[in-house]
Parts: sequence; C-alpha cells; structure tokens
Amino acid sequence: MMFMHIDPDHARLGLDAAIEQAEKGWREGGIPIGSVLMNEAGIIVARGHNQRVQSGDPTAHAEVDCIRNAGRRRDWKRLTLVSTLSPCPMCTGTTVLHKIPRVVIGEHRTYMGAEHWFKETGVIALVLDDPRCVALMERMIREKPDLWAEDIGD
Ligand SMILES: [Zn+2]
Repeated sequence: MMFMHIDPDHARLGLDAAIEQAEKGWREGGIPIGSVLMNEAGIIVARGHNQRVQSGDPTAHAEVDCIRNAGRRRDWKRLTLVSTLSPCPMCTGTTVLHKIPRVVIGEHRTYMGAEHWFKETGVIALVLDDPRCVALMERMIREKPDLWAEDIGD
C-alpha cells in the first residue's frame, strides 16, 4: 500500500545520504548539491550529485544525476526524492514526469526552485531547513562565487 506522508526518520536518513553526495561533489571540485532516491522501507535505491563542472554537462544537476542512476524501473510512484537544495524547474519537472510522489528538501534559503509545481501536481514536499545544507551552499557562494553565478545564469 502506498503511503502519502513522509516518514521523518526516513527523511533524516535520506538527507544525511544526500549531504554525503554533496560533499563528494565539492571534493571533486564541483557544486555541492546531492540527491538520493529512497523506497518506502527507507532504503536508498539511487544516489547522485551535481556534475556540471566534472562532466561539462549543464543539465547534470544532482536530482537528474540521481534519477539517471536509478535506471529503468517501474516503482517511481513508491519512491521519495531527497535533495540538499530546493529543486530547480528542470529537476522539479523530471520529478513530476516520473510521478515521484514525495520530495524532501534540505533547504530553500539560498535558492528557491519551483516548489509551487509540486503543490500544483500533488507532490508532497517537506522542507527540513537543515543548517548543514545552508552551510554547503554558503561555503560555495563564498569560495567559488563564479561557479554559482554560472549555475543560476547571472
Ligand atoms: Zn536542477
């Protein structure tokens, strides 16, 4: 049976794993945004992080990288997407396209994506406002401001 709420323990577990992905990306010289997909048992089925710098692919956002890594499957409607940062319009669209019903968002202070689309399409979104996620973005904006300016099209 599908449950339509977000288990707070799963959300925390997923966010910890997404933060690990973000830190991995930062160590690689990339943008520190991470993402995971979890099933209803709280098991992580895919991981990803932003690879725009590493791969040169402007669409290689964390959530898209994670969804790509999830591969071909039919259980999208039972998964929860977790991201350290509010998903941008492309990643929100990819989530809606795959009918992923739940999204956990680390923070939306440093960037606000297209969360209203989640509301409009019935996707449950939980914003955890986690200070670790804010710190990831603030460090990048401080140490590599050009990287972020390029990402948001400034
Ligand atoms: Zn995105």
